[in-house]
Amino acid sequence: MEVIDRSETMQARSLELKREGRSIAFVPTMGFLHEGHLSLMDIARSRAEILVVSIFVNPTQFGANEDLDQYPRDLRRDLGLCEDRGVDIVFAPESTVMYAEDASCWVDEEGLSKGLCGATRPGHFRGVCTVVAKLFNLVQPNLAVFGEKDAQQLRIIRRMVRDLNFPIEIVGGAIVREADGLALSSRNRYLSAEEREQALCLQRALKRAEQLFEKGEKNAAKIERQIFEIVDAEPLAEIDYIALVDESTLIPVSQIESATLVALAVDFNGTRLIDNKVLGCEKKRTA
Ligand code: AMP
Repeated sequence: MEVIDRSETMQARSLELKREGRSIAFVPTMGFLHEGHLSLMDIARSRAEILVVSIFVNPTQFGANEDLDQYPRDLRRDLGLCEDRGVDIVFAPESTVMYAEDASCWVDEEGLSKGLCGATRPGHFRGVCTVVAKLFNLVQPNLAVFGEKDAQQLRIIRRMVRDLNFPIEIVGGAIVREADGLALSSRNRYLSAEEREQALCLQRALKRAEQLFEKGEKNAAKIERQIFEIVDAEPLAEIDYIALVDESTLIPVSQIESATLVALAVDFNGTRLIDNKVLGCEKKRTA
């Protein structure tokens, strides 16, 4: 496995591989890898000859009061996991390698980014789109795999690829959960035992939404109210948002008539957890 930390080296290596006619699959991550990340690598591994993983805690997607400095990092452990999973190249740059001091160009998605996480994390998706566009230019992948766990991010990346004509297929990977249903996240390690227990309310809330929908409930406000009660009953849970939105446009729905994304963001003493589920058959994806 090659480990590259310079952007010129990464780009030169990818261009060389492309010249040799090799296909490249790419999984961008912020490291502190878990089975969720590894499942994306398995999908990518099965779809191309060369698997590239990036490990980069991207400063531009963190707000001033967010957890950039505390974000968990363990490059040595991550490299071991990548090697075991058959990764060919790990790109792990420092921030100074990725951003010139006077960098002044950004990729701003102005539609899908408005609501949900975009509403409470201003600038977050600008940082995400910018770093993903830069990584795409450095890694030159044929396809890239992103998790459904970050449902809004996945849709925004599909839109960016469509609108800016990146010749890259975007593939979504299912959410990987702990045995008790908590979605895996690098941030779960911040949770105290009590918070960890209470965090199961996200999964319970999504299950309840699904049950209600399966029993024929189509009224979004009624489902939202029941979810709210489940999460609000946990003393340490601070709700950021609970939303039922159209699965592809992310516009809030009042009645469930087509595939609908139920999305939650809940804060536990500064640890922000997100989770989601799609209700109804997924309609054909449009960017
Ligand atoms: P991160 O390192 O948190 O930026 O995540 C890197 C990629 O892993 C993103 O595409 C995430 O959506 C995906 N991911 C994170 N957690 C999970 C999970 N529990 N299941 C599946 N994919 C995940």
